[in-house]
Amino acid sequence: MCSVDNQVVYKNYHAFIPIKLEVEKLCQESRKNKPSQNTEHLSVLVLGMDAVSRLNFHRQMPKTESLLRKIHAIELFGYNKVADNTFPNLIPILSGLSEKELQHTCWPKLTSVFDRCNWIWKNFSAAGYRTAFGEDAAWMGLFSYVKRGFKEQPTDYYVRPFIKTAEDDIGHKTQLNAKLCIGSKMSVAVLLDYVSNFAITMSSKDTFAFFWGTSLTHDFLNYPSLGDDLHERFLNQLLHTGSLNHTVFIFMSDHGIRWGGIRETYQGRLEERLPFVFFVFPEWFKNLYPTAIANLHKNAHRLTTPFDIYETLLDILSFKQIEKESIRKRSTELDKGKSKPRQISLFLPVHKSRTCNEAGIDPHWCTCHKSKPLPLTDAKIKNMSLILVEHLNSLLKPYGVCSQLHLAEVKSATVEYPLEHLYEKTKDQGLKDYVLVVRTTPGDALFEATVRHHIGNSSVQVVGAVSRINTYGSQSSCVTDFHMKLYCYCKSYFRTRTKL
Ligand SMILES: [Zn+2]
Repeated sequence: MCSVDNQVVYKNYHAFIPIKLEVEKLCQESRKNKPSQNTEHLSVLVLGMDAVSRLNFHRQMPKTESLLRKIHAIELFGYNKVADNTFPNLIPILSGLSEKELQHTCWPKLTSVFDRCNWIWKNFSAAGYRTAFGEDAAWMGLFSYVKRGFKEQPTDYYVRPFIKTAEDDIGHKTQLNAKLCIGSKMSVAVLLDYVSNFAITMSSKDTFAFFWGTSLTHDFLNYPSLGDDLHERFLNQLLHTGSLNHTVFIFMSDHGIRWGGIRETYQGRLEERLPFVFFVFPEWFKNLYPTAIANLHKNAHRLTTPFDIYETLLDILSFKQIEKESIRKRSTELDKGKSKPRQISLFLPVHKSRTCNEAGIDPHWCTCHKSKPLPLTDAKIKNMSLILVEHLNSLLKPYGVCSQLHLAEVKSATVEYPLEHLYEKTKDQGLKDYVLVVRTTPGDALFEATVRHHIGNSSVQVVGAVSRINTYGSQSSCVTDFHMKLYCYCKSYFRTRTKL
């Protein structure tokens, strides 16, 4: 901070990456207690951009994309999200668990902290790696948006205290949810500076780092383009300083944009479910483990999920697992196994005919089917839409502060068909899935849901979550349960609106 005549003329926040002696000591001890079988180690650097579909990444960030192509990054073309928003799509990467499993294992209540959970950084820490976690939008952080976060600092390097203080004090330019700027910089640039400083400082040390940028891309479909130069520069800097010579760099998103005009199109529906993922491995690693890398190349064209990334990260801890002979054995086991595991390391061959059901993807989020539009005048569609609204009202029932919803309009209806190569596994088993988009009042919410028709007994039910595809703003500020925020239209909001 600089002042002239007691007047503040400059104020900013700067983060530093000190080598922490106590952390170094712990890392040495871990290595001594549990000597690693790996002759050489691979650090992990995950960098996320929230809410960017694979295709939107290509449209919006051509410079970064071209650089990734130049360095032979491996892109996943069939990476399908497993749940709605950030939290349930990142929890599988960081814990190998679904949101529900996390609740049963270590997060019993919405008010519980996350300290007890077995986050993957604990595995890396036990193996002598320095760990880091950081985000650029503190108030809507992965573990803190309508949640309680951690009691103890979860990783050796933890960006939250810095970014929270900076954001609260000099954060500005909120257009929808996120503060786009901190002082004179874009918030995402502040995060990228931290990440590159971290990667450069730690380039000769073993690290596991997970960083997530939300501010720039969370709210608007066309904002990723504002970060193209920044990300290209960031990646070039890491490459030129040799900071990725012992690191796998995973650059990815969690889902596509979840609201706005594009979400009312079929393209937008698919993109929301298909985020981008790139892997960049150092050359020596590719030369040492060609079978694992060849499988990853093939898996680029398979159905893959966040659960698979977790398994892949675990393999990085033990190179024995990805030597040619181990891969051969594990592939045979995978092939022979009667039931297919939900999560498969991407160093193993993922089967071409893997279904969403096998991969732990609910029908509502599955993109592996064809879709045919239906006439909205069909009485069956109207009936199913009413069942959908009834379902939403039953979810809202325990929340007396929320209004009852009424069907105002059916916006679209499609019926889903299996893809040819999955036909045998997913053919009509007496079920038909429909995707409906409806508008409800009060509040003009747009909901998209998968409704299943059991032909045998003519019953109809909503399967899985219901998407909210337009923004809810402060309509739902009377509830804190983050699931209900999508559906609730507060009675108090209605009263203030009618008074205006
Ligand atoms: Zn997200």
